[in-house]
Amino acid sequence: MAKIKENSPELMEKIVSLCKRRGFIFPGSEIYGGLANSFDYGPLGVELKNNIKNIWWKRFVHQRDDMVGIDAALIMNPKVWQASGHLENFSDPLVECKKCHHRFRKDLLEKNKCPDCNGELTEAKQFNLMLKTFLGPAEEEANKVYFRPETAQAMFVDFKNVLDTTRKKVPFGIAQIGKAFRNEITPGNFIFRTREFEQMEIEYFIKEEDWKETFEIWRKEMWSWMTDELGLDKKNIHELDVPDGERAHYSKKTIDFEYDYPFGKKELYGLAYRTDFDLKNHYKEPPYEDIENGEKLYPHVIEPTWGVDRSVLAVLCESYIEEQERVVLKLKPSLAPYKVAVFPLLKNKPELVEKATEVYHQLKKNFNIAFDDRGNIGKRYYSQDEIGTPFCITIDFETLENNDVTVRDRDTMKQERIKIKDLQSYLINKIN
Ligand SMILES: [Zn+2]
Repeated sequence: MAKIKENSPELMEKIVSLCKRRGFIFPGSEIYGGLANSFDYGPLGVELKNNIKNIWWKRFVHQRDDMVGIDAALIMNPKVWQASGHLENFSDPLVECKKCHHRFRKDLLEKNKCPDCNGELTEAKQFNLMLKTFLGPAEEEANKVYFRPETAQAMFVDFKNVLDTTRKKVPFGIAQIGKAFRNEITPGNFIFRTREFEQMEIEYFIKEEDWKETFEIWRKEMWSWMTDELGLDKKNIHELDVPDGERAHYSKKTIDFEYDYPFGKKELYGLAYRTDFDLKNHYKEPPYEDIENGEKLYPHVIEPTWGVDRSVLAVLCESYIEEQERVVLKLKPSLAPYKVAVFPLLKNKPELVEKATEVYHQLKKNFNIAFDDRGNIGKRYYSQDEIGTPFCITIDFETLENNDVTVRDRDTMKQERIKIKDLQSYLINKIN
């Protein structure tokens, strides 16, 4: 097995090219020359991404009694961002080259010179990362609003409404999946850092004295998510305990989970202890009443955050493998865009095509599946390997006599005969 490995720009190029060629991820607005670092998920990319989001929602919302979900507006009242501290603090240090006028984030530069022309840089000024727009026809100060820079604030602003409608008791969490926007000075590395991105986020409300224990529980949950659900190798994941002075303005403790992308070790997810900072900023009176002693209090918050796009990227990097003749995406079957592909052995034999179509429609009720009758079987296998389809089913002349098919496994390339009537349960078993 020849796996191109870490810190290889070549690997990154191959993944980007595969994503475009097979319909995972396209450059955004491409026919107009693109738009700086925007990307569109294509037919296969949206399936991979939705699989990740659905598994996350099932695991952290549906399968737990202590969690509820919301889906809030992307644009919130600007007072939210004043109260949360984002208007004042959510900024990066911006410097500009005096010679070529390129702009950079000072904290990401290795030396105090322009990386493009070695020119002198201006003094750093704080550049707010929130993306602005106007609501309504008049583009005036009073109508200025911001696209949310994180999904989190909605969970705090809706906290009281959620409490009143669900009667949840601390400890409990509010989960959300949605887009967020940051006007990054230097986006880059494909879908790693974009100005528009998606988050899966939980605000988990607790009593202050329980924060350390709860933080630990979520740390383990995040590890389990990365290894068990996404199939990432432990050795490619690293924890970074973010030191004082480098944490976000609201956090008392933060761990970054970093992943070995082909372009280096960079952030994948984050886990933060936000204290009662946010609820205190939004509510004048404590919004929560302890049922045991009637005491009013501000619950504290543990916040695990998962980037959706970074999840997709890490999964693609982890699963891309070159073996002799073929490229394989060794995705976990649960994540694969197509679970199964169905082939008639020969395109010009109507009885084979008819039988294959029948099997295809039968399985399509339960799985997202592909149908392919082009070229030879070997090429069709390789074509499915490249997009991570775990199983290929071939309908041949024996099928017509015995009502069984060949099932070929992506990873082992082994084939076995399975009765058509057993296909459904066979596949369900293998995929889950
Ligand atoms: Zn310069």
